[in-house]
Amino acid sequence: MPVKRRKKKWIPGCISGETILAVAMTEPDAGSDLASLSTTAVRDGDHYIVNGSKIFISNGQLADLCVVAVRTDETASPHAGVSLLAIESNSKGYRKGTNLKKIGMRAQDTSELFFDECRVPVENLLGAEGEGFKYLMHNLQQERLVLGIGAYAAAEGALDITIDYVKGRKLFGKTLGKFQNTRFTLAEIATKVQLARSFLDDLIPRHMAGEDVVREVSMAKYWLTELQFETADKCLQMFGGYGYMREYLISRLFVDARVQRIYGGANEVLKEVIARRLNI
Ligand SMILES: Cc1cc2nc3c(=O)[nH]c(=O)nc-3n(C[C@H](O)[C@H](O)[C@H](O)COP(=O)(O)OP(=O)(O)OC[C@H]3O[C@@H](n4cnc5c(N)ncnc54)[C@H](O)[C@@H]3O)c2cc1C
Repeated sequence: MPVKRRKKKWIPGCISGETILAVAMTEPDAGSDLASLSTTAVRDGDHYIVNGSKIFISNGQLADLCVVAVRTDETASPHAGVSLLAIESNSKGYRKGTNLKKIGMRAQDTSELFFDECRVPVENLLGAEGEGFKYLMHNLQQERLVLGIGAYAAAEGALDITIDYVKGRKLFGKTLGKFQNTRFTLAEIATKVQLARSFLDDLIPRHMAGEDVVREVSMAKYWLTELQFETADKCLQMFGGYGYMREYLISRLFVDARVQRIYGGANEVLKEVIARRLNI
């Protein structure tokens, strides 16, 4: 299908929200080391035959259309043999597995996907064969920036609700907000959140102007998700036992924060990216 027709077929539904998308890269034996993925797509006339499985796929249950990273050339180097196929979830041989039970992020589904002799029209290839890894890396930069922005917003939100809470909670004859520990802890967090804001205010326009900000975007994802988790943890402490109850928003901010340091590139992987760009 020419690119124009493909866009006409898929994009209106994606924009209106009727077509739900997913991106399936991770496999049971290929997470951080994505280049080792082993789901294959073998050409058979005007189709690819896809075999393999994916894990931890956001929207895996709901998705109508999934961008799947597959190996189209087993003889090429690990990075060069990867391509991207858009696979409709009603395709024969496409099976949705379990909706995995997570400790947080319960509002979204995270699923396994299985491909068993799944026939996919060749026209569903996105871009050029063998260029899939490059496309993924290119878009991961934006994803990492967005993760950083979300982390910043969650940290600021946790700080705001905690400031409200400590003003109202009374113990030992005064409000929690009047204890020096509370004041210093929240002052420290507020300082870091302010720094995060300045960092992002500088970074977003640079990214939008097309500058090479791989190093800074990696810093944003790594540092802001660490800040998000630290903030959620320290703020939850201020709520005492109430903070451990699901009824309180801070408990959700805490469990949802944990995974941010793992997906979108584990923070250790991002530190490696930063170190490489320091020419160490
Ligand atoms: C809720 C959720 C949603 C997700 N959504 C998607 C999705 O939509 N699509 C998708 O394709 N994937 C998705 N993932 C998968 C996610 O991207 C992977 O979990 C992540 O890349 C880590 O891979 P892994 O779990 O296999 O851990 P591994 O690769 O086994 O890594 C385990 C740990 O090893 C350490 N580590 C890894 N590499 C290095 C290194 N180079 N140096 C030092 N230490 C290192 C890190 O601490 C890491 O956490 C999702 C995961 C979760 C939990």
